[in-house]
Amino acid sequence: MYKFIIMGIQGCGKGTQAKLLCEAYDFVHISIGDQFRWHIANHTKLAAKVNRIISGGNMVGDDLVAKVVSERLAWHDWNYGFVLDGFPRTFAQAEFLFENFNINGVIHMEAPDSLVRERVLARRVCSGCGLDYNLIGHRPKTEGICDVCGSPLVTRSDDHEEAIGKRIADYHTKTEPMLRYFRRLGIVVDINATQTIPKVHADIRAALNLPDSRPLNSLTLHSEREFAKGLPS
Ligand SMILES: [Zn+2]
Repeated sequence: MYKFIIMGIQGCGKGTQAKLLCEAYDFVHISIGDQFRWHIANHTKLAAKVNRIISGGNMVGDDLVAKVVSERLAWHDWNYGFVLDGFPRTFAQAEFLFENFNINGVIHMEAPDSLVRERVLARRVCSGCGLDYNLIGHRPKTEGICDVCGSPLVTRSDDHEEAIGKRIADYHTKTEPMLRYFRRLGIVVDINATQTIPKVHADIRAALNLPDSRPLNSLTLHSEREFAKGLPS
């Protein structure tokens, strides 16, 4: 069984790589963003709590995030392993994880801040169906219009220069202590995230010494889409 953590700044393609890895090896992809979306779609008590926090203009705290992850891991449906995406967020959570689960590896997706900034600024989302576009990697056929439903494309409200700068700074402040901790344990693999999706995927498998997998759905692997769907920050 393999237990991995994938780390990388929003826009580095980590969601896409986590999905590919899970598809190849039947791991369970535990994405914090997806967990919250699931709770909201199912109108759980937790979703009500999250709604109260957000409508009060606050961010969901690390304690609530940790609770969601613990509950999800307690399902124990991950027979072949899991890839944690969007967690841990703090040094304390990193320690908790390592003490309770034998983490085999931390996939550290490296991309320069300038590239992340450029990618996020180019990101557009369809106002109708929610499909992601990117003016660099995945352009719509007609400028400003969704290929699928024909609705106008818009910029996400949190994708402006100042907010991105803050997200990048926050990411480094929070991540570096965790990375140092994981590095001391000797379980970090550094992956160049600026390459194509198939190349990044191949590098991850090689760095983790994973055996050959089943063939991947070529659609996912060769998608023009270079950028992972952003998690709520
Ligand atoms: Zn659309």
